[in-house]
Amino acid sequence: MMDNSAVILHKGKDKAIKNRHHWIFSGAVKTLPDFENGSILAVRSADGEFLGCAYFNKESSIIGRMISFDDRPPLETLKTNVEQALILRESFFDDDTNAYRLINGEGDRIPGLIVDRYKDVLVVQVSTLGMEKLKPFLVDLLVQRLSPRSVYEKSNLPSRREEGLPMFEGLLYGEPVRTIEVLENGLRFLIDIIESQKTGFYLDQREMRKLVRTLSGGRRVLNAFSYTGSFSVFALAGGAVSVDSVDTSERAIELAQENCRINGFAGGNIRFHVADVFDFIRDHSLEHDLVILDPPAFAKKKSDVVRACRGYKDIHRLVFQKIPPQSLVLTFSCSFFVDETLFRQVVFQAAREASRDVRLLQRHHQAYDHPVNIYHPESDYLKGLLLHVE
Ligand code: SAH
Repeated sequence: MMDNSAVILHKGKDKAIKNRHHWIFSGAVKTLPDFENGSILAVRSADGEFLGCAYFNKESSIIGRMISFDDRPPLETLKTNVEQALILRESFFDDDTNAYRLINGEGDRIPGLIVDRYKDVLVVQVSTLGMEKLKPFLVDLLVQRLSPRSVYEKSNLPSRREEGLPMFEGLLYGEPVRTIEVLENGLRFLIDIIESQKTGFYLDQREMRKLVRTLSGGRRVLNAFSYTGSFSVFALAGGAVSVDSVDTSERAIELAQENCRINGFAGGNIRFHVADVFDFIRDHSLEHDLVILDPPAFAKKKSDVVRACRGYKDIHRLVFQKIPPQSLVLTFSCSFFVDETLFRQVVFQAAREASRDVRLLQRHHQAYDHPVNIYHPESDYLKGLLLHVE
């Protein structure tokens, strides 16, 4: 039967969709009906098999993103997926933690949408036009289900340009909120909803912060690329004898100081530096025996990989050259395009160049409120290595 309103894929180009990958690239599409960008359309294989529904935007090279793989009305499927995302989080978190990712895009089968919870405030990021059109429906659903104090949108994502969307930031529901205090595993953190990176906090590092608490007893800690000092607070809670937090952002360091203070940590052994990490390490003798390196993504696109690896190698070589014997380095890369194998090779190469014996103790990934859909490996970006330097 002909279906004139459906998108038909080329023969052989439906495999990814049948494997439940969410993305349809424009090259996979054989025929498109007339439609307004952002609309939801049925998707069929070349021989007419119904594959599900996607929202489409001719402006984008990822022309379609699947929002359902069954024959239920797509909004019903979305509703189910939101509910399942919430249930998953509710099963993991207790009263000690009230900041976590509620919806993680494709990882929760809801492409184009991120929702983070900061106590009673929800922060939303929309990356596609199709999701922009679904936003009122989804925000209503979240408000009904969670009764938040407010819902704030922070969609200042460069990737929106390709979708023909401007950057946008603003209140979607409830009262305006600027800063909010949240709890993570019993420790307190101030989140500046408006003047912040990501949606406010690096929620993906929660499990690593817990690890830092267990590693820090008696250690002198350097928290490089500290942002608002979350690793510093966990290190102090774990008994670190000193902590240096280094970040180029003045606002981040200001909040790092506040975050230490509200958790009851103060004194000359807790130091803050508005500085470039590369310069800081070059200019100081490193007396630290636990160094945390959590830089921003050095590779934002594939063509950045070579330059990014040079950056990763430089920073690790500097640390390995200067760090005292029997130290730990906990290092991360959040560049999707630098995979774990490559990251490890670069780190080991840096160790060789610094003539230090470095061993890998543990490997880490993003926290479990950032699920990775096995059909959509693109959402697997964060990797961490715990290293021992002889
Ligand atoms: N570890 C943090 C997140 C770090 S994000 C946490 O868990 O909260 C990366 C941080 O690096 C950002 O705060 C950014 O301001 C900072 N940054 C980027 N380039 C830098 C540089 N060259 N030197 C110091 N800080 C830098």
